[in-house]
Amino acid sequence: MLHRGKTALVTGSTSGIGKAIAEALAAEGADIVLNGLVEPGEDEKLVADFESRFGVKVGFSGANLTDPEAIEGLIGYATRDFGGVDILVNNAGVQHVAPVEDFPVAKWDLIISLNLSAAFHTTRMTMAGMKEKGWGRIVNTASAHALVASPYKAAYVAAKHGIAGLTKVVALEGAEHGVRCNAICPGYVHTPLVDAQITDTARARGISEEEVKRDVLLAAQPTKQFVTAEQVAAMAVFLTSPSGDQVNGALMQMDGGWAAH
Ligand code: NAD
Repeated sequence: MLHRGKTALVTGSTSGIGKAIAEALAAEGADIVLNGLVEPGEDEKLVADFESRFGVKVGFSGANLTDPEAIEGLIGYATRDFGGVDILVNNAGVQHVAPVEDFPVAKWDLIISLNLSAAFHTTRMTMAGMKEKGWGRIVNTASAHALVASPYKAAYVAAKHGIAGLTKVVALEGAEHGVRCNAICPGYVHTPLVDAQITDTARARGISEEEVKRDVLLAAQPTKQFVTAEQVAAMAVFLTSPSGDQVNGALMQMDGGWAAH
């Protein structure tokens, strides 16, 4: 097992890609701090499920990552109860689809704070501990939208391009301290986030949901197949493994060739 004795904090790990990454790291023996917004009681079920399936220590924080003070609480919890964060996966994110002239300002602020600023805060709060230990891995769930744009996604594309820049800066700063920072750039992965987007895009473009899947989402993805959350998780494991040791500041495309256009 790769990560016995290490702690991984995966933000937005109650669902979709983050949950799959947390599962894959737990399967490698890492203790896991889960995070996300869930209904009361769901967190206990999730923790019990992880503990029984993987036999590692598992904690949960419902910190709302749009609030820097809540992030401080989350990192404080991981430091006190788990001895710090060795593997940080910045994954929590939301989407909103609207033409730029109608883009709700509150949605812009939400997406920039969650999809971009939260990763800055978690990174700035864990970097010193990683440098001190001489080992740390930061994996940012970016997107193909860190590399290319699509219409109606001003905030998301801006935030994901921002994450690409943050990834490179942190990679340079950590390089001589045993810290690596990389981003994974998936194309469309069929998760609850994409389900919501299918509905929103259908409304924004005035077409059916089937047409959105065929003509909008997978139109950009040359393989015409969704990426799976498990494939993204396997990439996260690679990036935290000794084989990934010289991968640093990379934006790993997993989009069936989309960004090759
Ligand atoms: P998802 O909706 O399944 O999961 C999102 C997670 O973020 C959940 O755990 C949710 O509780 C959490 N979250 C939402 N708001 C939060 C907040 N304010 N504070 C803390 N946690 C919060 O989404 P997903 O598709 O698994 O997306 C995960 C990441 O992958 C996002 O950053 C997304 O941009 C990125 N991504 C997704 C796709 C895709 O096609 N699904 C493609 C590329 C990149």
